[in-house]
Amino acid sequence: MALNYIYPDYEIIRNYDRCIACRVCERQCANQAHEYLDTGKIVCDDAKCVNCHRCVTLCPSRALKIIKSGNAYKENKNWSGKIINEIYRQAGTGGVLLSSMGNPEDYPVYFDKILLNASQVTNPPIDPLREPMETKVSLGTKPHGIERGESGRVRNNLPPRISLSMPVMFSAMSYGSISYNAHESLARAAEELGILYNTGEGGLHEDFYKYGRNTVVQVASGRFGVHIGYLNSGAAIEIKMGQGAKPGIGGHLPGTKIVGDISRTRMIPEGSDAISPAPHHDIYSIEDLRQLVYSLKEATEYKKPVIVKIAAVHNVTAIASGIARSGADIIAIDGFRGGTGAAPTRIRDHVGIPIELALAGVDQRLRDEGIRDNVSIIAGGSIRSSTDIVKAVALGADCVYIASAALIALGCHLCRSCHAGKCNWGIATQVPELVKRLNPDLGYERLVNLMKAWRHEIMEMMGGMGINSIESLKGNRLMLRGVGMSERELEILGIKHAGE
Ligand code: SF4
Ligand code: SF4
Ligand code: SF4
Repeated sequence: MALNYIYPDYEIIRNYDRCIACRVCERQCANQAHEYLDTGKIVCDDAKCVNCHRCVTLCPSRALKIIKSGNAYKENKNWSGKIINEIYRQAGTGGVLLSSMGNPEDYPVYFDKILLNASQVTNPPIDPLREPMETKVSLGTKPHGIERGESGRVRNNLPPRISLSMPVMFSAMSYGSISYNAHESLARAAEELGILYNTGEGGLHEDFYKYGRNTVVQVASGRFGVHIGYLNSGAAIEIKMGQGAKPGIGGHLPGTKIVGDISRTRMIPEGSDAISPAPHHDIYSIEDLRQLVYSLKEATEYKKPVIVKIAAVHNVTAIASGIARSGADIIAIDGFRGGTGAAPTRIRDHVGIPIELALAGVDQRLRDEGIRDNVSIIAGGSIRSSTDIVKAVALGADCVYIASAALIALGCHLCRSCHAGKCNWGIATQVPELVKRLNPDLGYERLVNLMKAWRHEIMEMMGGMGINSIESLKGNRLMLRGVGMSERELEILGIKHAGE
């Protein structure tokens, strides 16, 4: 028998005084961590537990809890238990370590070091319950001037734009990486809220064409599911050049997940791996990108704004400057804490830069170069709350992308096991019995509730600052102060230290 070097990360603690042997935990755990024995006793295998909390939440007698294993290696500041376990794992499998969701490592979260302003005596606060507040945003290229026709009348030369009821969109999550029911929840919520959701790189299921006005259709390097009907079906087209969780590498959806509708939607045979190459094979320069931007515009008769999505990497400001000159209408920047359905752990945890620094740098550079109006900016990569949104807008974003927060609203417990395809909450899975666990009626309602709550909080924060329109907050860094940051960090963010 092969020697298992690794002690499980988590321990399942069952209080047998409370357990009524109902077997709910056994049925709910797709990882088969619980087992009912003929003797009437329920036992568990800690090694199979990914700490998704499904059994804990549904146990009718609150008999279960999952704790972090107390088993420790001999103390060593250099060789932590995590590193030792990773070496054991790779020595056993010979494979790349895989992970999902966002970077969990202990890097600074700049949003948490930024504080918001509030009005006191002069420029008094505004009460959002009594006075009108504007949270609508419009994304896209702004015209450079007013044009008049021969009769002298003003020509409507406004390029196509995206209108949103609040500065939020649901970020790209492909059908395949998340379930049909998760997609339906996002699409219906986007429609109800007057915002947009994003197909991700897996094409668009025929059932969801009816939500086209609230859909961003993505074109990624694999070009899965891309055809003229698809391009015309959405409100905007997004070219995915990169993703915050895995900058510089492509994507891989295993053949086991390419079944039924997913294979049809992606336009690839059942069982074949969906591998997106790291680069677009027709893009090696900004000029190449420009060609694709205009090909997509030409194909859709210049009716759709084009978004170019990039990962926040070291020279993001120069890249964004090029994109702003490429004819794209919107740049989406995805920070290094952004989520994913699957990524090599080393890449997810060590490549890229924080969205706060990337966003502030890009906004400033585009202003300095006089091309800020060429494009709108979407910021993504672990936007966790309404305060993160307000801070992102004040740092220069026109709008944010959220994904992990939306999945958490649907029930995700951040177990970071999406790549295994056995999501116990029915989100990152295609297993029919698991998909059914996410009720789209409830999912849609929870997303709408979350966004309504955040919108109200955004209005309260704006009101506190004496601002009644989100447009007045955009890039308004005077509303921000930093705490616990170096001079250089404050300089890049373009904000003052608290007390100044
Ligand atoms: S769900 Fe709770 S009560 Fe039911 S068998 Fe499991 S631990 Fe016992
Ligand atoms: S994987 Fe989830 S459902 Fe299974 S034992 Fe662990 S917490 Fe419970
Ligand atoms: S979507 Fe599912 S598998 Fe992925 S982190 Fe959330 S609960 Fe875990």
